[in-house]
This record gives sequence, structure tokens and C-alpha cells, in this order.
Amino acid sequence: MTEIVYFDYNATTPPRPEVADAMMEVLRVAGNASAVHASGRAARARVDEARASIAALIGAEPGQIIFTGSGTEANNQALRESGRKRLIVSAIEHEAVRSARADAEISPVDENGIINLEALEQILAGSDEPAQVAVMLANNETGVIQPIAEVSSIARRHGALVHCDAVQAVGKIPVDVVALGADSYALSSHKFAGPQGVGVLVMRTPDIIGRFVHGGGQERGLRAGTENVAGIVGLGVAARLAAQALPKYAKLAELRDGLERRLRDIAPDMIVFGQDSERLPNTAKLTMPGVPGDTQVMAMDLAGIAISAGSACAAGKVEPPYVLSAMGVPDDISITATRVSLGWQTRPEDLDKFVAAWEKLYNRVGRKVG
Ligand code: PLP
Repeated sequence: MTEIVYFDYNATTPPRPEVADAMMEVLRVAGNASAVHASGRAARARVDEARASIAALIGAEPGQIIFTGSGTEANNQALRESGRKRLIVSAIEHEAVRSARADAEISPVDENGIINLEALEQILAGSDEPAQVAVMLANNETGVIQPIAEVSSIARRHGALVHCDAVQAVGKIPVDVVALGADSYALSSHKFAGPQGVGVLVMRTPDIIGRFVHGGGQERGLRAGTENVAGIVGLGVAARLAAQALPKYAKLAELRDGLERRLRDIAPDMIVFGQDSERLPNTAKLTMPGVPGDTQVMAMDLAGIAISAGSACAAGKVEPPYVLSAMGVPDDISITATRVSLGWQTRPEDLDKFVAAWEKLYNRVGRKVG
């Protein structure tokens, strides 16, 4: 089988071998982390170790970490169980935030994909009802990083809580939850080379978000259910490795920027969205002039390269380009965009293969300037 060049790390990351090894070790032995006997205590110790590793990665206390079944669950619960009357979400939030409450108010972003802080302040000032604001740390499509510390101080002035979806940022850039100042955060293990199906809800103080799964007393009674010990252990190992790899991860920006330059040499009117903003080092959201994104995804797939058109979080489903629409990009341009996201296994030669396949497709069907 030909080797697949994988450029879809924002959808999911291949787990690191150490993660899989640690999980296999746990899967081979019984151990309910709530049991008092030796195997239960061993499982509990491994869960606690993972809690400490993820807390260390983001500057939190282990007691602020609640394990969940996904980033989606962490986002949903943070927004549904905060008891706040109003919810204000940025226009570029992931579906896990956008769909959490049907009555959410939308706060706009500018053409660079950054939340408009004056507009947010005005929306907050529009009512005295207790509010919660949700703004992501980094956008999954464009990689654009949001000014969460500023959002937190504006929200604080209006007595509002802040929830931050940090799913795409953790493991890609340094994250310090204290400096960002939000009240709660959502994380997802499979975005930083851990297993799928494990998420984290981080809470500044335990009373901010109410109990969301009723049953036994696991996760301090907030999210009952026997812990996914193997998944949590995998997440812990991934968190430890991600902390060590952050300097190396930052260097992906050189590869990504080089890629963008080479594609622009081929197609001078190619657009990179959010290029003038601070972005995740691994993400490029770019157009191939005149070629629909899904055509590009299929052609690249035939060439053995995995990229994505929308944020394909649900199998085969491409979401409407609401992130680019919110940035004021017309539909005829946004439909020609794809997302290329690099990661820990990306090698310079993978980019050569990408550029060659991209150029071939563009020469065949792309719209040429002039
Ligand atoms: N939030 C963002 C920004 C994401 O990109 C994703 C997944 O793509 C999620 C939340 C959902 O995380 P999970 O796949 O763990 O449910």
C-alpha cells in the first residue's frame, strides 16, 4: 500500500507510539479506579498521574481537571450547566459550542478572523442578565489565535463567566490557563496525539459548572461513570510528550510558511486566510483559485495525500463555510478553500509531494491569473 501523506492533524492526530504502548499495558490488567483493593489503587494512581500531566501542560491544578468522553462533551456541559441566562459565542466557534444552546447570541469576528472586542463589550452591555461568553483559543479551520485574556477581562467587567474551547490549541502552542483568565476550558486528547474519546473540562472553581452525569461519585461527583482508565492514561502520556515537544512544534511554522510561499509562486492569487493574524504553527487555510475544495480533497486523496475541505468532524460531512463567511469571505471564494494541517510526523519531503500534486491539479483545472 502506498504511504499516505497525512495533512489533517486538526481533524485528528496519529497517536504517538508511547501512547499506544501505555494504553495496551493498562488494557491487559483489570482495575476499577474506584475499587479499594490493590488493582483498583493501581488504576487510581495511573488516573491521578494523568491528571497531573494534563494539569502541568496547561498550568492548572490537578483538582481543576474533570475527565470527559470528548472535547464536545466538555464544551456542551460547560455551556449547558453554568446556570447563566445568556450565552454569547463567537461567530467562529466549533459546532460543539455553537450547538450547545439554541438561544446563543453571536459575537462577530473581523476579516482577520479575530473576535471584535468592542462588539463583544456592546453585546454584554445590552443586558444585565447573568451571562457566559464562549470564545475558542485557536480556530480549527484557520488556526487564528484569539485574545482570550482580553475577552476574560471584558467579561469580568460585566460579571460574565468565560468558557474557552482550547481543543485545537493545547499541544500546539503553550497554554497557561491562569494567564488566559477564563473560568472553564475544554480540551481533547486526540488533537495532541492521544486517543480519541477522551476529553477534559477544566474549571477554575468547582462550583462554576453543575453535575452533568448522575450516578456514582467519579470525577468529584460531576461526571459519574467508571473512568476510561486506558484512554485517560493515553491522554496523560500524550500530555507529557506534548509539553516536551512544544519547541519542536513551533518550528512547523517554517514548513507551513514555506508551503504557502511555494503555492503562491504557482498561483499568485491564492489566498491564505488569517495570514496576517497570529496563527497555530501547523495550520494553513488556503484557496486553489477556481477549484472547489471537495474536488481538491478528492484529487489529493487519489494522490495519497489527506487534507480537508470543511471541518470534517462528523464522518463525510462538510460543514457550510461559516468560519470564512463570518470573516466576510464571499461563498465563491470560500468554496475553493481547503485546510492543510501539519503535525508531529510531518517531514519536509511530504511538503514536496503536496506541492507537486497541488501544482499538477492547478495546471489542469485551476483558474489562471490574467
Ligand atoms: N472544538 C474544536 C475547536 C474542535 O476542532 C473539535 C474537533 O474537531 C472539537 C471541539 C470537538 O472535540 P472532540 O472531537 O473531542 O469531540
